[in-house]
Amino acid sequence: MNSEQLFERSKKVSPGGVHSPVRSFRSVGGTPVFFQKANGPYLYDVTGKEFIDFCLSFGPLILGHRDPEIEEIVKETVSELAEFIVNEIPWVEKIRFVSSGTEAVMSALRAARAFTGRDKILKFDGCYHGHADALLVKSGSGLAGEPSSDSAGIGKAQIHETLVLPLDDDALVERLFSERGKEIACVIIEPIPANYGLLVQRNEFIEKILRIAKSHGTLIIFDEVISGFRTGMRGMAENFSIKPDLVTYGKIIGGGFPVGGYGGRKEIMDLISPQGPVYQAGTLSANPFGMRAGLATLKKIKRENVFPILEERTRRFISEFISILNQHSTSEWDAVQAASMFWFHKKNHTPIRRIDEIPSGHKEGFATLFHSLLDQGVYLAPSGYEVGFISFAHDDSILDKAIDKLKLAVRKGAK
Ligand SMILES: *Cc1c(COP(=O)(O)O)cnc(C)c1O
Repeated sequence: MNSEQLFERSKKVSPGGVHSPVRSFRSVGGTPVFFQKANGPYLYDVTGKEFIDFCLSFGPLILGHRDPEIEEIVKETVSELAEFIVNEIPWVEKIRFVSSGTEAVMSALRAARAFTGRDKILKFDGCYHGHADALLVKSGSGLAGEPSSDSAGIGKAQIHETLVLPLDDDALVERLFSERGKEIACVIIEPIPANYGLLVQRNEFIEKILRIAKSHGTLIIFDEVISGFRTGMRGMAENFSIKPDLVTYGKIIGGGFPVGGYGGRKEIMDLISPQGPVYQAGTLSANPFGMRAGLATLKKIKRENVFPILEERTRRFISEFISILNQHSTSEWDAVQAASMFWFHKKNHTPIRRIDEIPSGHKEGFATLFHSLLDQGVYLAPSGYEVGFISFAHDDSILDKAIDKLKLAVRKGAK
């Protein structure tokens, strides 16, 4: 069977034929590719066609697919993942493992409410925190801070306690806190928003949020589900003078298996059951495969010190990529990089820090680029709002090969 036939078959038994919406290709059009195997930087579809993979499971696979050390370790060792993380990251004094990033975020919010005795939470438009009801919200049309739902099926009461602000607007943060600061249990933010394009924030903006929250007794949750162990061993929190009270993890910490985690200050984490009154549980929490694969991954990225290597490879790759694309394109492309994450978009006169600054026509422009690369055997994440990743398995020769494929795509008319 080919991908079309498998997709038809899959649609009969699962909503939309997928288990996570972005996989459906709805954003880029066409039929999702059904992959059969993966190895290192490569994916292979059901017909055996090879693709260089820049989607990388949407983030977890920092060592590429089926790294031999991870495969080995999944078979044998025991879990010391919690110890490893707590030893590595000073502001994570205790950590609890769950099975997804969504669950980590949900649980962290509950802990924050318990600790502060307050109900409201504050999030930012353009940050994704998983699919818990209270977080599938965007700015409403009325007053700054008022939410509206971002998905069908969410009751008004579920979103009532969530406040929403745009990114990159210091004044609105100040105003909201001066009016309602004492009601806000926690502010949650992706310190480098990487789920709606790559919306790199000004350091001063994040520092401002940290300072204001602190002065109002509001807890700070850094959602590092993508950035944790991607931007560096200690994630993005490393870069700020004030550390978050709680941090959520996922993706890389499971080494490709389902693992999430939330951790932070001891006095907050000690509120979690069975030690404290905040109930939180999971039948398969801290599953052994995820713990082992996660630990092996973190040990290897530390030992190999992958971060500067990946960052340099990413820098070279995207600069060559953009330069080739722009030799042929009518409208100029640009790229944003953060560590080993990248995002292509049409050139904008200012840096893109908020969702309303993403150039119009972005989705369609990306879809065209996506398909011309797919034809050549290069797999970007199938949506213009997802970021790309470079793994340790993407060495210079692989990246050169991807650039050659881009050249072919461009010759055939990619723009
Ligand atoms: C992926 C992601 C989540 C959700 O994690 P899941 O494991 O998909 O539930 C939450 N927050 C951020 C920042 C993410 O990137």
